[in-house]
Amino acid sequence: MRALLNFAGWLQRLIFPPRCIFCSEVVSVPGVCCKCQPVKQETLLAQPKLLPQNYCLTFIDAAYSVFNYTKPQVRRSMQRFKFYADRSMAEGYAAEMTTLLRQIQQAYKIDALVAVPWHKGDRQNRAYHAAQVLAKSVSLQLKVPYLQNSLQKTVKTKRQHTLRLQDRAQNIKNVFKVKDSLQISDKVILLLDDIITTGNTVNACAQALKEAGAVKVIAISFTASTNYNFFTGGSTYGTK
Ligand SMILES: [Zn+2]
Repeated sequence: MRALLNFAGWLQRLIFPPRCIFCSEVVSVPGVCCKCQPVKQETLLAQPKLLPQNYCLTFIDAAYSVFNYTKPQVRRSMQRFKFYADRSMAEGYAAEMTTLLRQIQQAYKIDALVAVPWHKGDRQNRAYHAAQVLAKSVSLQLKVPYLQNSLQKTVKTKRQHTLRLQDRAQNIKNVFKVKDSLQISDKVILLLDDIITTGNTVNACAQALKEAGAVKVIAISFTASTNYNFFTGGSTYGTK
């Protein structure tokens, strides 16, 4: 059976070889091609304890992002992945996130992975759940269990990017619940989203996880915006 799966994987790569997530050139390893490597230079890091109180990351212990959304190549890539549902990019995205996470694991012993969830009513209007697709792939590559149903969104809300900045925290307040706190209690949880903009959504998720007993919540996204001043370029993974 294993040989059959390996053959199927080999055949799939032969017919659909991995492509660079930015320029679509064929690459030997999923991720970013040589030409697009300069886009990778800046990993983003937010250290909420060092931020003024008015930032909305109060329940997050640290937040990381692989790419800066303000770069046009990153924006275009994300749009293709998320809104045109190009699933073939997921493996490359997850590979880039996993490379960063292996460094983060030197500072945090991550027990489990949770993706920012959708409300069940969201499925009708959206292409597919990008955070969940990424979480499954990262879980396999990082060998950390993915708790798919632990965190749930119990209220259907307006989409965050359609709201004014000052309305976003209220829109998302108390809408996430942990279904089984035994899975979360006393654990260091990696909370994954495809993109972090104002941080309100990951913070609301982190609140639910902390209330269920999580020791730490580390947020990770494929891309994040530096427009809100809490993400800065950096490569320091040892912060606690
Ligand atoms: Zn490229």
